[in-house]
Amino acid sequence: MTKLTGECLCGAVSFEADGEVPVMANCHCTACRQSTGSAFATLMFMKEGDVKITGTPKTFQHNSDAGSVMTKHFCDKCGTPLFTQNSTREGMLGLRAGVIHEQEEFAPKVNVYVSSKMKATLLDDALPAFEKMPG
Ligand SMILES: [Zn+2]
Ligand SMILES: [Zn+2]
Repeated sequence: MTKLTGECLCGAVSFEADGEVPVMANCHCTACRQSTGSAFATLMFMKEGDVKITGTPKTFQHNSDAGSVMTKHFCDKCGTPLFTQNSTREGMLGLRAGVIHEQEEFAPKVNVYVSSKMKATLLDDALPAFEKMPG
């Protein structure tokens, strides 16, 4: 079990999570790069029920290239991206690793969508890398 806490830049939205983290990944897809403003997104996925959110993030929905509905959650005061959901992974919430206090808990296991990664982004050869999203 992993305990995580975190908050947005202004503190209006915070969370406490306690549970398993079955997926830790770097996603290099274009939507993740745009929505985070970063070279890639760093995500820890947990069950929605394991995450207690304080404050009310704003949401934005878009369709992924694979046809699923993606929901981004962000603070409407400071703009910090906090969570992400994928309609094909019901019940799971992706926590953006950069907002987590317990930084040592983030150890990515995989790189996905490396087909759209930025040229300058170096990948850890020890991790599996997928052109898109694995099955
Ligand atoms: Zn904020
Ligand atoms: Zn992505």
